[in-house]
Amino acid sequence: MSKAIRMARTGGPEVLEYVDVAVGPPGPGEVTVRHEAIGINFIDIYFRTGLYPQPLPNGLGQEGAGTVEAVGEGVTHVKVGDRVAYAARPNGAYAQVRNMPATHLVVLPEQIGFETAAAAMLQGMTVQYLLHRTAHLKPGDTVLWHAAAGGVGLIACQWAKVLGVNLIGTVSSAEKAALAIEHGATHVIDYTKENFTERVRELTDGEGVAVVYDSIGKDTFAGSLDCLKPLGLMVSFGNASGPVPAFAPAELQSRGSLFFTRPTLVHYTATREDLEATARSLFGVLSSGEVKVAINQRYHLQDAAKAHVDLEARRTTGSSILLPH
Ligand code: NDP
Repeated sequence: MSKAIRMARTGGPEVLEYVDVAVGPPGPGEVTVRHEAIGINFIDIYFRTGLYPQPLPNGLGQEGAGTVEAVGEGVTHVKVGDRVAYAARPNGAYAQVRNMPATHLVVLPEQIGFETAAAAMLQGMTVQYLLHRTAHLKPGDTVLWHAAAGGVGLIACQWAKVLGVNLIGTVSSAEKAALAIEHGATHVIDYTKENFTERVRELTDGEGVAVVYDSIGKDTFAGSLDCLKPLGLMVSFGNASGPVPAFAPAELQSRGSLFFTRPTLVHYTATREDLEATARSLFGVLSSGEVKVAINQRYHLQDAAKAHVDLEARRTTGSSILLPH
Protein backbone atom coordinates (compact mmCIF):
# COMPACT_ATOMS: atom_id res chain seq x y z
CA MET A 1 0.00 0.00 0.00
CA SER A 2 1.04 3.62 -0.56
CA LYS A 3 -0.35 6.94 0.56
CA ALA A 4 -1.16 8.98 -2.53
CA ILE A 5 -3.11 11.97 -3.79
CA ARG A 6 -5.99 11.05 -6.08
CA MET A 7 -8.64 13.17 -7.80
CA ALA A 8 -12.02 11.89 -9.00
CA ARG A 9 -13.15 15.21 -10.51
CA THR A 10 -11.60 18.48 -11.68
CA GLY A 11 -11.89 21.66 -9.63
CA GLY A 12 -10.24 23.62 -6.82
CA PRO A 13 -7.59 22.28 -4.42
CA GLU A 14 -10.37 20.52 -2.44
CA VAL A 15 -10.60 17.81 -5.14
CA LEU A 16 -7.20 16.47 -4.02
CA GLU A 17 -7.77 13.48 -1.73
CA TYR A 18 -5.10 11.82 0.42
CA VAL A 19 -5.83 8.10 0.23
CA ASP A 20 -4.33 4.59 0.45
CA VAL A 21 -3.69 2.94 -2.91
CA ALA A 22 -2.52 -0.59 -3.66
CA VAL A 23 0.72 -0.79 -5.64
CA GLY A 24 1.17 -4.18 -7.31
CA PRO A 25 4.37 -5.57 -8.76
CA PRO A 26 5.71 -3.64 -11.79
CA GLY A 27 4.52 -4.84 -15.20
CA PRO A 28 6.80 -5.49 -18.18
CA GLY A 29 8.99 -2.44 -18.84
CA GLU A 30 7.95 -0.86 -15.54
CA VAL A 31 9.69 -0.12 -12.25
CA THR A 32 8.45 0.55 -8.75
CA VAL A 33 9.88 3.82 -7.39
CA ARG A 34 9.79 4.75 -3.70
CA HIS A 35 9.82 8.56 -3.69
CA GLU A 36 12.03 10.56 -1.34
CA ALA A 37 10.79 13.89 -2.76
CA ILE A 38 8.16 14.97 -5.28
CA GLY A 39 8.14 18.09 -7.48
CA ILE A 40 5.23 20.54 -7.53
CA ASN A 41 4.72 22.34 -10.82
CA PHE A 42 2.21 24.76 -12.26
CA ILE A 43 1.18 22.11 -14.80
CA ASP A 44 -0.29 20.13 -11.87
CA ILE A 45 -2.81 22.98 -11.47
CA TYR A 46 -3.76 22.80 -15.16
CA PHE A 47 -4.54 19.08 -14.74
CA ARG A 48 -6.38 19.66 -11.46
CA THR A 49 -8.62 22.37 -12.93
CA GLY A 50 -9.21 20.45 -16.15
CA LEU A 51 -7.48 23.01 -18.43
CA TYR A 52 -5.37 20.01 -19.48
CA PRO A 53 -7.75 17.03 -19.64
CA GLN A 54 -6.95 13.55 -18.31
CA PRO A 55 -9.11 10.46 -17.63
CA LEU A 56 -10.53 10.43 -14.08
CA PRO A 57 -10.16 9.21 -11.39
CA ASN A 58 -6.41 9.71 -11.60
CA GLY A 59 -3.28 10.70 -9.76
CA LEU A 60 -1.43 13.99 -10.11
CA GLY A 61 2.20 15.08 -10.33
CA GLN A 62 4.76 14.64 -13.08
CA GLU A 63 8.06 14.71 -11.24
CA GLY A 64 9.76 12.71 -8.52
CA ALA A 65 13.03 11.36 -7.16
CA GLY A 66 13.63 8.21 -5.15
CA THR A 67 14.90 4.66 -5.15
CA VAL A 68 14.04 1.76 -7.45
CA GLU A 69 12.31 -0.86 -5.34
CA ALA A 70 11.46 -3.45 -8.01
CA VAL A 71 11.93 -3.85 -11.76
CA GLY A 72 9.59 -5.55 -14.24
CA GLU A 73 10.42 -7.87 -17.08
CA GLY A 74 12.69 -6.44 -19.77
CA VAL A 75 14.01 -3.49 -17.76
CA THR A 76 17.74 -3.16 -18.28
CA HIS A 77 18.93 0.41 -17.71
CA VAL A 78 17.99 0.65 -14.02
CA LYS A 79 18.22 -1.89 -11.18
CA VAL A 80 16.88 -2.30 -7.66
CA GLY A 81 18.53 0.21 -5.33
CA ASP A 82 19.35 2.82 -8.02
CA ARG A 83 18.74 6.47 -7.15
CA VAL A 84 16.54 7.83 -9.94
CA ALA A 85 14.42 10.81 -11.00
CA TYR A 86 11.97 11.73 -13.74
CA ALA A 87 9.90 14.63 -15.04
CA ALA A 88 7.05 15.45 -17.43
CA ARG A 89 5.72 11.91 -17.34
CA PRO A 90 2.41 10.22 -16.56
CA ASN A 91 0.57 11.85 -13.67
CA GLY A 92 0.84 10.01 -10.36
CA ALA A 93 3.99 11.40 -8.71
CA TYR A 94 2.06 12.65 -5.66
CA ALA A 95 2.53 9.27 -3.92
CA GLN A 96 4.92 7.49 -1.59
CA VAL A 97 5.39 4.65 -4.07
CA ARG A 98 4.36 4.25 -7.71
CA ASN A 99 4.87 2.06 -10.75
CA MET A 100 5.92 3.75 -13.98
CA PRO A 101 7.63 3.05 -17.30
CA ALA A 102 11.39 2.58 -16.75
CA THR A 103 12.20 4.46 -19.92
CA HIS A 104 11.29 7.79 -18.27
CA LEU A 105 13.88 7.43 -15.49
CA VAL A 106 17.38 8.82 -15.31
CA VAL A 107 19.92 7.60 -12.77
CA LEU A 108 21.01 10.40 -10.44
CA PRO A 109 24.69 11.27 -10.11
CA GLU A 110 25.92 10.83 -6.54
CA GLN A 111 26.23 14.58 -5.93
CA ILE A 112 22.58 15.35 -6.82
CA GLY A 113 20.33 14.90 -3.78
CA PHE A 114 16.73 13.68 -3.97
CA GLU A 115 15.23 17.03 -3.01
CA THR A 116 17.28 18.91 -5.60
CA ALA A 117 16.33 16.39 -8.27
CA ALA A 118 12.64 16.51 -7.42
CA ALA A 119 12.68 20.31 -7.50
CA ALA A 120 14.83 20.70 -10.60
CA MET A 121 14.14 17.94 -13.09
CA LEU A 122 11.04 19.47 -14.67
CA GLN A 123 11.81 23.15 -14.19
CA GLY A 124 15.55 22.79 -14.91
CA MET A 125 15.19 20.63 -18.03
CA THR A 126 12.61 23.16 -19.23
CA VAL A 127 15.08 26.02 -18.88
CA GLN A 128 17.72 23.85 -20.57
CA TYR A 129 15.70 23.28 -23.73
CA LEU A 130 14.23 26.81 -23.80
CA LEU A 131 17.64 28.49 -23.63
CA HIS A 132 19.68 25.95 -25.62
CA ARG A 133 17.32 24.48 -28.19
CA THR A 134 14.14 26.55 -28.69
CA ALA A 135 16.14 29.72 -29.30
CA HIS A 136 19.65 30.17 -30.66
CA LEU A 137 21.01 32.73 -28.25
CA LYS A 138 24.43 34.38 -28.27
CA PRO A 139 26.24 36.10 -25.41
CA GLY A 140 25.02 39.71 -25.25
CA ASP A 141 21.49 38.90 -26.45
CA THR A 142 18.66 40.24 -24.30
CA VAL A 143 15.53 38.22 -23.46
CA LEU A 144 12.38 38.92 -21.47
CA TRP A 145 11.37 36.22 -18.96
CA HIS A 146 8.03 36.49 -17.16
CA ALA A 147 7.58 35.22 -13.58
CA ALA A 148 11.34 35.47 -13.02
CA ALA A 149 11.13 34.66 -9.30
CA GLY A 150 9.16 31.41 -9.79
CA GLY A 151 10.51 27.87 -9.99
CA VAL A 152 11.37 27.96 -13.69
CA GLY A 153 12.18 31.67 -13.39
CA LEU A 154 14.95 31.55 -10.77
CA ILE A 155 16.68 28.74 -12.65
CA ALA A 156 16.40 30.76 -15.88
CA CYS A 157 17.93 33.86 -14.25
CA GLN A 158 21.02 31.86 -13.28
CA TRP A 159 21.34 29.84 -16.48
CA ALA A 160 20.98 32.91 -18.72
CA LYS A 161 23.84 34.50 -16.80
CA VAL A 162 26.01 31.43 -17.39
CA LEU A 163 25.38 31.89 -21.15
CA GLY A 164 26.12 35.63 -21.05
CA VAL A 165 22.51 36.40 -21.96
CA ASN A 166 20.88 39.49 -20.41
CA LEU A 167 17.60 38.51 -18.79
CA ILE A 168 14.94 41.11 -18.07
CA GLY A 169 12.55 39.50 -15.59
CA THR A 170 8.99 40.38 -14.61
CA VAL A 171 7.69 39.85 -11.06
CA SER A 172 4.76 40.93 -8.89
CA SER A 173 6.48 42.27 -5.75
CA ALA A 174 9.61 43.96 -4.41
CA GLU A 175 10.60 40.77 -2.59
CA LYS A 176 10.39 38.78 -5.83
CA ALA A 177 12.32 41.51 -7.67
CA ALA A 178 15.18 41.27 -5.18
CA LEU A 179 15.26 37.47 -5.52
CA ALA A 180 15.43 37.59 -9.32
CA ILE A 181 18.30 40.09 -9.24
CA GLU A 182 20.10 38.00 -6.61
CA HIS A 183 19.84 35.01 -8.97
CA GLY A 184 21.29 36.87 -11.96
CA ALA A 185 18.53 38.82 -13.72
CA THR A 186 19.96 41.94 -15.37
CA HIS A 187 16.80 44.04 -14.79
CA VAL A 188 13.42 43.39 -13.21
CA ILE A 189 10.03 44.95 -13.88
CA ASP A 190 7.08 44.78 -11.49
CA TYR A 191 4.40 44.09 -14.09
CA THR A 192 1.64 44.71 -11.56
CA LYS A 193 2.80 48.34 -11.22
CA GLU A 194 4.56 49.22 -14.47
CA ASN A 195 3.68 48.75 -18.14
CA PHE A 196 6.24 46.03 -18.90
CA THR A 197 6.20 46.68 -22.66
CA GLU A 198 7.12 50.34 -22.27
CA ARG A 199 9.76 49.48 -19.69
CA VAL A 200 11.35 46.84 -21.95
CA ARG A 201 11.54 49.43 -24.76
CA GLU A 202 13.25 51.87 -22.37
CA LEU A 203 15.71 49.27 -21.13
CA THR A 204 16.66 48.25 -24.69
CA ASP A 205 16.93 51.82 -26.10
CA GLY A 206 13.76 51.28 -28.11
CA GLU A 207 15.10 48.18 -29.84
CA GLY A 208 13.16 45.39 -28.13
CA VAL A 209 14.37 41.94 -27.09
CA ALA A 210 15.48 38.93 -29.17
CA VAL A 211 13.24 36.42 -27.37
CA VAL A 212 10.26 36.61 -25.00
CA TYR A 213 9.66 33.61 -22.73
CA ASP A 214 6.00 33.92 -21.75
CA SER A 215 4.47 31.40 -19.32
CA ILE A 216 1.73 33.75 -18.11
CA GLY A 217 -0.43 33.50 -21.23
CA LYS A 218 -3.69 35.45 -21.36
CA ASP A 219 -2.64 38.53 -19.35
CA THR A 220 0.75 39.13 -20.98
CA PHE A 221 0.60 37.69 -24.50
CA ALA A 222 -0.22 40.86 -26.47
CA GLY A 223 2.21 42.99 -24.47
CA SER A 224 4.91 40.37 -24.92
CA LEU A 225 4.63 40.48 -28.72
CA ASP A 226 5.19 44.24 -28.51
CA CYS A 227 8.50 43.70 -26.67
CA LEU A 228 10.15 41.86 -29.56
CA LYS A 229 12.53 43.32 -32.08
CA PRO A 230 12.08 42.42 -35.78
CA LEU A 231 12.71 38.71 -36.44
CA GLY A 232 12.36 38.13 -32.69
CA LEU A 233 11.03 34.87 -31.24
CA MET A 234 7.90 34.60 -29.12
CA VAL A 235 8.05 31.50 -26.90
CA SER A 236 4.65 30.88 -25.33
CA PHE A 237 5.25 28.05 -22.86
CA GLY A 238 2.55 28.31 -20.20
CA ASN A 239 -0.82 29.69 -19.12
CA ALA A 240 -0.56 30.73 -15.46
CA SER A 241 -3.19 33.47 -16.01
CA GLY A 242 -5.25 31.47 -18.53
CA PRO A 243 -4.82 30.25 -22.11
CA VAL A 244 -3.62 32.59 -24.85
CA PRO A 245 -6.54 33.81 -26.99
CA ALA A 246 -6.55 33.08 -30.72
CA PHE A 247 -4.49 35.52 -32.78
CA ALA A 248 -3.99 36.18 -36.47
CA PRO A 249 -0.64 35.37 -38.15
CA ALA A 250 -0.68 38.96 -39.45
CA GLU A 251 0.11 40.04 -35.84
CA LEU A 252 3.54 38.51 -36.34
CA GLN A 253 4.07 40.18 -39.72
CA SER A 254 3.07 43.66 -38.60
CA ARG A 255 5.48 43.58 -35.66
CA GLY A 256 8.50 42.69 -37.80
CA SER A 257 8.26 39.14 -39.21
CA LEU A 258 8.29 37.58 -35.75
CA PHE A 259 8.64 33.85 -35.06
CA PHE A 260 6.27 32.02 -32.74
CA THR A 261 6.50 28.67 -30.95
CA ARG A 262 4.45 26.90 -28.28
CA PRO A 263 6.85 24.24 -26.91
CA THR A 264 6.56 21.65 -24.16
CA LEU A 265 9.19 19.57 -22.35
CA VAL A 266 7.75 16.18 -23.32
CA HIS A 267 8.64 16.71 -26.97
CA TYR A 268 12.17 17.89 -26.18
CA THR A 269 12.83 14.76 -24.09
CA ALA A 270 10.85 12.24 -26.15
CA THR A 271 13.82 10.04 -27.04
CA ARG A 272 16.22 8.43 -24.55
CA GLU A 273 19.04 10.35 -26.24
CA ASP A 274 17.34 13.74 -25.77
CA LEU A 275 16.22 12.91 -22.22
CA GLU A 276 19.72 11.84 -21.17
CA ALA A 277 21.43 14.79 -22.89
CA THR A 278 19.02 17.31 -21.33
CA ALA A 279 19.36 15.77 -17.86
CA ARG A 280 23.16 15.61 -18.22
CA SER A 281 23.29 19.30 -19.11
CA LEU A 282 21.13 20.12 -16.07
CA PHE A 283 23.19 17.94 -13.73
CA GLY A 284 26.30 19.70 -15.08
CA VAL A 285 25.22 23.20 -14.04
CA LEU A 286 23.84 21.92 -10.73
CA SER A 287 27.07 20.05 -9.93
CA SER A 288 29.28 23.00 -10.83
CA GLY A 289 27.17 25.27 -8.62
CA GLU A 290 26.45 27.62 -11.56
CA VAL A 291 22.75 26.96 -10.99
CA LYS A 292 21.36 26.44 -7.49
CA VAL A 293 17.79 25.32 -6.97
CA ALA A 294 15.93 27.48 -4.48
CA ILE A 295 13.60 25.07 -2.68
CA ASN A 296 11.63 27.73 -0.86
CA GLN A 297 8.54 25.67 0.03
CA ARG A 298 8.38 22.15 1.46
CA TYR A 299 5.07 20.44 2.28
CA HIS A 300 4.10 17.00 3.50
CA LEU A 301 2.42 14.89 0.80
CA GLN A 302 -0.90 15.09 2.60
CA ASP A 303 -0.77 18.90 2.34
CA ALA A 304 -0.67 18.92 -1.47
CA ALA A 305 -3.86 20.99 -1.58
CA LYS A 306 -2.21 23.70 0.55
CA ALA A 307 0.76 23.70 -1.84
CA HIS A 308 -1.64 24.29 -4.73
CA VAL A 309 -3.36 27.17 -2.90
CA ASP A 310 0.00 28.89 -2.32
CA LEU A 311 1.24 28.37 -5.90
CA GLU A 312 -1.99 29.65 -7.46
CA ALA A 313 -2.10 32.65 -5.12
CA ARG A 314 1.41 33.69 -6.29
CA ARG A 315 2.65 33.29 -2.69
CA THR A 316 5.59 31.03 -3.58
CA THR A 317 9.07 31.83 -4.85
CA GLY A 318 11.51 29.39 -6.45
CA SER A 319 10.62 25.70 -6.34
CA SER A 320 8.24 23.73 -4.14
CA ILE A 321 8.39 20.04 -3.20
CA LEU A 322 6.27 17.46 -1.38
CA LEU A 323 7.87 15.12 1.13
CA PRO A 324 6.20 11.72 1.27
CA HIS A 325 7.48 10.44 4.64
P1 NDP B 1 5.99 29.43 -10.86
O1 NDP B 1 6.73 29.10 -9.64
O2 NDP B 1 6.65 30.30 -11.87
O3 NDP B 1 4.58 30.02 -10.46
C1 NDP B 1 3.82 30.73 -11.39
C2 NDP B 1 4.09 32.24 -11.31
O4 NDP B 1 3.40 32.88 -12.37
C3 NDP B 1 3.58 32.90 -10.05
O5 NDP B 1 4.43 32.80 -8.95
C4 NDP B 1 3.40 34.34 -10.50
O6 NDP B 1 4.62 35.07 -10.35
C5 NDP B 1 3.13 34.20 -12.00
N1 NDP B 1 1.75 34.55 -12.33
C6 NDP B 1 1.36 35.60 -13.10
N2 NDP B 1 0.04 35.65 -13.22
C7 NDP B 1 -0.45 34.63 -12.48
C8 NDP B 1 -1.78 34.20 -12.20
N3 NDP B 1 -2.86 34.82 -12.71
N4 NDP B 1 -1.93 33.13 -11.38
C9 NDP B 1 -0.88 32.50 -10.87
N5 NDP B 1 0.40 32.87 -11.13
C10 NDP B 1 0.62 33.93 -11.92
O7 NDP B 1 5.53 28.07 -11.59
P2 NDP B 1 6.46 27.00 -12.36
O8 NDP B 1 7.88 27.38 -12.20
O9 NDP B 1 6.00 25.64 -11.98
O10 NDP B 1 6.02 27.20 -13.86
C11 NDP B 1 6.17 28.47 -14.51
C12 NDP B 1 5.43 28.45 -15.81
O11 NDP B 1 6.13 27.66 -16.75
C13 NDP B 1 4.00 27.89 -15.75
O12 NDP B 1 3.16 28.64 -16.59
C14 NDP B 1 4.18 26.50 -16.30
O13 NDP B 1 3.02 25.97 -16.86
C15 NDP B 1 5.25 26.74 -17.35
N6 NDP B 1 6.01 25.53 -17.70
C16 NDP B 1 6.00 25.12 -19.00
C17 NDP B 1 6.74 24.05 -19.40
C18 NDP B 1 6.81 23.69 -20.84
O14 NDP B 1 7.63 22.86 -21.24
N7 NDP B 1 5.97 24.26 -21.69
C19 NDP B 1 7.48 23.23 -18.43
C20 NDP B 1 7.50 23.79 -17.09
C21 NDP B 1 6.76 24.89 -16.75
P3 NDP B 1 4.49 36.66 -10.03
O15 NDP B 1 3.77 36.74 -8.72
O16 NDP B 1 5.88 37.15 -9.97
O17 NDP B 1 3.68 37.24 -11.15
